[in-house]
Amino acid sequence: MANQLERFVKRKNYLIFVDSDGCAMDTMERKHTQCFGPGLVDEWGLERGRGLILSRWNEINLYTTTRGINRFEGLAMILREISEAGYDIPGLDDLLRWTSAGGALNHRTLQEEIERTNSICLKKALLWSRESNRQIALLPKEDRRPFEGVQRALARAHRYADVAVISNAPLATVLEEWDMYGLLEHTDVVLAEDCGNKERCIAGLLELGYARDHVLACGDACDDLHAAEKNRVFFYPILVNHENESWAEFVSDGLERLRAGTYAGAYQQEKIESFLNNLSE
Ligand SMILES: [Mg+2]
Repeated sequence: MANQLERFVKRKNYLIFVDSDGCAMDTMERKHTQCFGPGLVDEWGLERGRGLILSRWNEINLYTTTRGINRFEGLAMILREISEAGYDIPGLDDLLRWTSAGGALNHRTLQEEIERTNSICLKKALLWSRESNRQIALLPKEDRRPFEGVQRALARAHRYADVAVISNAPLATVLEEWDMYGLLEHTDVVLAEDCGNKERCIAGLLELGYARDHVLACGDACDDLHAAEKNRVFFYPILVNHENESWAEFVSDGLERLRAGTYAGAYQQEKIESFLNNLSE
């Protein structure tokens, strides 16, 4: 899949990155409340703490600055808290070590770590992650739709910008979801989990020669903001619980300002502040 990045051809002078889960697609809430959270309770047999654990899982993954965190980092965070609350989580240190080592966190690297350590906790993490993917694939189509206004916004952006989807989710999932509602026709490339982290994906396309002030990254989580900041390109936030208004403003203000050269400065600052204020600590 590095090929997607390698095969991409610059056609226009502007470039817009659009994150998938929670930004273009209204999928995060269902994935976490119906798949990842309950799956975690089942896999580790945590039924007696179910209510508190599910609510803490949603806080970590949906409503605070860790929103959009890699699933294994989120898992390590909550299992550590669960363990500190007195539950026995065998092999937890193996998961904490793996997730904090700074390497890529996906099924392939997890499998390698399991072969190296034979850790029960890592084995359970892989089972949980695979089962979550399976449950997500079973979610009905009407529960995996784009936010209102996304199609129109992408069509508008695509008139003068190359459009790149950028996501930490598996490629097959992103392609399936974007295809279901005809969004792929307004995009030029899909950079998913296997292309590396978002910072690297943005850096890779910048090498094709876009001016940095012609590049905008659109996202709903802090890792989207950091990827934009590290590459010194603009950031446009889709605010959780205000997604439809955010997309309407993307068309009426964001795109216009990008083209007019008035995105930098006060407007960018205001967008970042409203984004951070909307995610409580
Ligand atoms: Mg997202």
